[in-house]
Amino acid sequence: MKIEILLAAAFLAVLLGGKPDLPDLLEKWESVDSQVEELGERKRFLLLVNRTHPLPEGFVPRLAKSFQGNSILLDRAAGQALERMLKAAEEDGYEILISSGYRDRSYQEGLLKEDLAYEKSRGKSQKEAYASVIRETMPPGCSEHETGMAVDLVPYYNQILDERQAETPENQWLLSHCAEYGFILRYPKGKEAITMVDYEPWHFRYVGVLAASEIMEEGLTLEEYVYDRIGQNEASVQTNGGDET
Ligand SMILES: [Zn+2]
Repeated sequence: MKIEILLAAAFLAVLLGGKPDLPDLLEKWESVDSQVEELGERKRFLLLVNRTHPLPEGFVPRLAKSFQGNSILLDRAAGQALERMLKAAEEDGYEILISSGYRDRSYQEGLLKEDLAYEKSRGKSQKEAYASVIRETMPPGCSEHETGMAVDLVPYYNQILDERQAETPENQWLLSHCAEYGFILRYPKGKEAITMVDYEPWHFRYVGVLAASEIMEEGLTLEEYVYDRIGQNEASVQTNGGDET
């Protein structure tokens, strides 16, 4: 609808002899485009993936080519938003590194095995090791990184993924601005019982600007947002049909 109005306005401007200002028009087109895309893909962006909601069978992430040295893959829309966010951070003086983006199933399996082996080398039984590892590393099929819509973001000078990330000015910048670009802090402190994941100040998830603003402003998790706000029924549709839009 908005695109039609813009088209009509541009056409009218030409008809009346007024030449539309191209950069101005392009900017409007771009913003309308992203709004339409966000509405159309809203369900996909709200796809809930956690230990009790594995990725829907046959889910195919829509990956874009590359970020930061051709090695990071991300969902196309999430990647574009991330690029804008990192550019804005840079303009404010913060250089932020993407430490992890899309991970495929076998990579996630490898990570889990690696973490299990480490815990077992410290004397834990298989059961104890598993219980401790899945506080941070999801079983295959349950990691948001497999959607391509999750990113781990760290400053260049400190790439260790622990709670001290929260003290860095880069992380604080991200917390204040991530919603403007459609990202949320996915595993906040104090919400571990709901997310079933320990506090991870570095892990951000793309959900679109509208949902991100509400989630961040109200201090919600994606679980709370999807179940309380959108409703259980729609949530299950989203989980099953996440890649259909
Ligand atoms: Zn992560």
